[in-house]
Amino acid sequence: MIKYCDLKEINNRYEPALTQAITRAVQSGWYIRGKECERFEQAFANYCGCGHCIGTGNGLDALTIILKAYCELGIMQPGDEVIVPANTYIATILSIIQAGLKPVFCEPCATSYNINPAHIESLITERTRAIMPVHLYGLVADMDKICAIASRHSLKVIEDSAQAHGALHNGKRTGNLGDAAAFSFYPGKNLGALGDGGAITTNDPQLAETARAIANYGSHKKYINTFKGVNSRLDEIQAAALSVKLATLDADNNARREIARTYIERIDNPLVTLPVADKEGNHVYHIFAIMTPHRESLQRHLFEQGIETLIHYPIAPHKQQALQEFSHLHLPVTELLHAEELSLPCHPAMDSNSVQKVIEAVNSFKV
Ligand SMILES: *Cc1c(COP(=O)(O)O)cnc(C)c1O
Repeated sequence: MIKYCDLKEINNRYEPALTQAITRAVQSGWYIRGKECERFEQAFANYCGCGHCIGTGNGLDALTIILKAYCELGIMQPGDEVIVPANTYIATILSIIQAGLKPVFCEPCATSYNINPAHIESLITERTRAIMPVHLYGLVADMDKICAIASRHSLKVIEDSAQAHGALHNGKRTGNLGDAAAFSFYPGKNLGALGDGGAITTNDPQLAETARAIANYGSHKKYINTFKGVNSRLDEIQAAALSVKLATLDADNNARREIARTYIERIDNPLVTLPVADKEGNHVYHIFAIMTPHRESLQRHLFEQGIETLIHYPIAPHKQQALQEFSHLHLPVTELLHAEELSLPCHPAMDSNSVQKVIEAVNSFKV
């Protein structure tokens, strides 16, 4: 069986460094807000080219804390609106709601699957405070247009970079393309921890300081609480593991690109639409997303050939029971993408034999 994402194989490649780093953290006798987290935050800020990095408990919290920090700074008020792509993972939407703000759903572009800048301006009202692009599947959103719209209307740009660690836009990395960014280090992400983890990056020192306090019970100084904060921190063991893995993130992303390049070159089944090709490092293929009106039968066909696939995601956020208040929205592009998407295996521990098998299996699919 070719697994969709083989975390055991992916992480085995870091041994013995991974186990050594974890042992170092265990034996230090210090498990929260210590040297490992500080070292990783520094390294990740440098990697992204950002002034500040704040470790958090997960990616959802990283997004929520950015918005809460803008609220504490008086830049946003409860009920203000944030424009967000409608076809994202639900976490993006939940972060806006959890911060007391209102998500405004924007249709994606039918070829890039990222937020369509052509629709953003029609959604701006006097309550709009931010645009939250998602670099979906690992492809950088159309940041030039998004940032131009944001600057015309004095809006913040908050990147949901949970799927695009290390992706480039005009030579700059995600995490450094807007006012603030959130990352997830969920184990299956391109930079994955051995449990939950996340981070905020920004060049804004005031936002960084506020976010850091909010993530730590609203406290800058022990037992002095300035804000109604939360407890969301990147622990020492996860930070130690992430420092090891960060060193080869670029190589891993290149390995994903190489698989994607081969897929795009050799898959030629007219029943399947392939994702866009990488351009100057702007795609890190967290997910190799194909579209087909015959998803169920293609998934079954691939399974019968020993290939595991996943769907990202089977139900659009506005069609989820949890978000019933948005179920009336008419979002045909979003709904079509959610009906047709199928994710092929594409990870750095995959060998060329498996890549070849996937190509042959997709090409042999007929209806
Ligand atoms: C994974 C993910 C998140 C949330 O990250 P967690 O660490 O699981 O909380 C947010 N947005 C997107 C687009 C994601 O893929």
